[in-house]
Amino acid sequence: MALLDKIPGELSIYIGGLFTVRRRVALEASGITHILSVLKLPLDQRLFEGFTHKVVEVDDVDDENLLEHFPACIRFIRDAVGSGGGVLVHCAMGKSRSATVVCAFLIQKYGITPDEALAQIREARPLCEPNDGFWQQLKLYHQMKAPNDVESTPTYQRWLYQREIELSRACGQAPEAEKIRFEDEHAVDGTPTDFELRCRKCRRSLATSQYLVEHQSRPTNALLTSCAHYFLDPLSWMRLELEQAKLDGRLECPKCKTNVGKYAWQGMQCSCGEWVVPAITLAKGRVDEVKVKTESGTSMGIRMPPPANGRRLAGGQEHL
Ligand SMILES: [Zn+2]
Ligand SMILES: [Zn+2]
Repeated sequence: MALLDKIPGELSIYIGGLFTVRRRVALEASGITHILSVLKLPLDQRLFEGFTHKVVEVDDVDDENLLEHFPACIRFIRDAVGSGGGVLVHCAMGKSRSATVVCAFLIQKYGITPDEALAQIREARPLCEPNDGFWQQLKLYHQMKAPNDVESTPTYQRWLYQREIELSRACGQAPEAEKIRFEDEHAVDGTPTDFELRCRKCRRSLATSQYLVEHQSRPTNALLTSCAHYFLDPLSWMRLELEQAKLDGRLECPKCKTNVGKYAWQGMQCSCGEWVVPAITLAKGRVDEVKVKTESGTSMGIRMPPPANGRRLAGGQEHL
């Protein structure tokens, strides 16, 4: 009897396709107690009788969101091996979806990279190959440090937003108003701010450096001198303009109404030659870069009382 494909290591984790599910004798001989089906097909329920069974309905396509199911799949695998049993993770071919889910489990369990996880799986089943979209999701999951709660992670929310933008762009449309993510409304405390961009005419602050979008894969504070634009995330002061569902338009300073930039959901080419998609920009000639003081510097300046004040305070206390 041919053996099932077992992931090397002490845990009883097996990977396979639809044919594997039909091999009841082999499944039982391998000590498999749990089956995780990762596919969107009608399944013959009789095949799963006697097993703890879970189905995650996803297609094997690049733009399917499998990432949101990682925590539940990992929990299922963990419960199976934790109870002393074995688990079969299968999809249709035992190639992309099942491999992705097992990779996610190994990434979390052992703190390894997607490449290391896949190498381990391929020792059992050489044909394993997550599709490109799933591979990106595994990299993102690793980058997020494999959390048990994916959906409340800012990195995940941002990824979802970028998918939405990409989807509407592919349809030649502006994103729906409620889909636009105004990044300053999701600010994470403690994100360092090096400088802010102020309207050259009225000095209104328009953006801080953490909302700059890299292009030319260079750090945001090292723009080429040939770059005529700062590229930005959507910010809440742009809301009225961006929610009009126009493909492109101008951005006015919310205070003095000067034209300070423009946006194009389908992207724009910077004067340095690089395309940025989507493009939300401030023109370099319309804004000033102003260095932001570090927090420790400002608090020291305000909090330290001069010696004279200190003496008066001490005197005041004597009267109490
Ligand atoms: Zn202004
Ligand atoms: Zn540029």
